[in-house]
Amino acid sequence: MLKRFLTCFVLLIVLTIAGTVSAAKPVELTGINAIDLDNETLRIEISYNGGQLDLDNILTEVKSGILRVELDNTLPGRVSRISGTKIDSGAKDFVEKIITNKTQNNHTSIQVHLRSTIGQDDIKISLEPARRSEKKSACIILDVKKYLNADEDEWIWNREGYQKIIVLDPGHGGSDAGAIGPTGVTEKSVSLAVSLKAEKLLTDSGYKVIMTRTTDIDVAAPGVPDATELQARVDKAPPNAELFISVHCNAFSNGSANGMETFHAPTAVQGARLARLLNEELARLGGLNNRGVKAARFYVMTHSQCPASLIELGFITNYREEKLLASNDYQQKLAQAITNAVNRYFNQGGYD
Ligand SMILES: [Zn+2]
Repeated sequence: MLKRFLTCFVLLIVLTIAGTVSAAKPVELTGINAIDLDNETLRIEISYNGGQLDLDNILTEVKSGILRVELDNTLPGRVSRISGTKIDSGAKDFVEKIITNKTQNNHTSIQVHLRSTIGQDDIKISLEPARRSEKKSACIILDVKKYLNADEDEWIWNREGYQKIIVLDPGHGGSDAGAIGPTGVTEKSVSLAVSLKAEKLLTDSGYKVIMTRTTDIDVAAPGVPDATELQARVDKAPPNAELFISVHCNAFSNGSANGMETFHAPTAVQGARLARLLNEELARLGGLNNRGVKAARFYVMTHSQCPASLIELGFITNYREEKLLASNDYQQKLAQAITNAVNRYFNQGGYD
């Protein structure tokens, strides 16, 4: 009995120590550099300080030209700002852009958008310790094999015919009407009508648009838990999607509540920029009270792999706004505002 007690006690101590180790202070990423190293190699250097990483903390995945680097026990730090990422001029021929997202606590997800397709075997990962004498921080080194001459045609298509992918998510649908206005206008019909109009405008502007739904349906299935339905929407986004925009109308028990607002996930830097641009463009339409740009943990934003925003076009429970939201003219204006915001996202101070 005593022996068993002791065994348990020792096990408890071991588990406690293991728990302490796995909860070690996360390291902070301090910069990402894409470097044209030599004829064969593109180097992605992710520098960090404040602790130690090992290869178990690093997971890479390659899918249709995107190299995803998942880093456990890290904080994105400076890297979540545009200035934290540098693509040197030679590397620009191979890297379109690099996006960093904090996806969960102490977990950072980095997407390196390459201009050609590579395989998992084309990446070599190593760790370089800090070199104090050269004032160089510790680095994760990803050496990626270049494929400039692999397929000349495809390369040119990638460089010049690249279409940015925008995902539009008309909120609710099918068995879920969303909020319903005083005269019976449904949120699901407004979100779909505005999204379909925005799909057309964005397509005309040269984007590839992916809709989570184009008709009055549940995206997963009727009656499934909310998380299943929302994940089905997130999953409609391909790994190389640039933006995810979810379109909704607000509701409140008091019919006098009014105005529009836009949301982003709490730590999403690019998502916040998208939400701000959407808010500015919606505000420019005039007529509605601007409730501002807010951080929130809406499922589609926190689970999206690309910058995401959820917009509340107006209060469908407000008699005046219900009428506006249902009008074809105003829907067209809302669609134009969304398109303008997307255009500004890529043309003004983007990461290119
Ligand atoms: Zn909604």
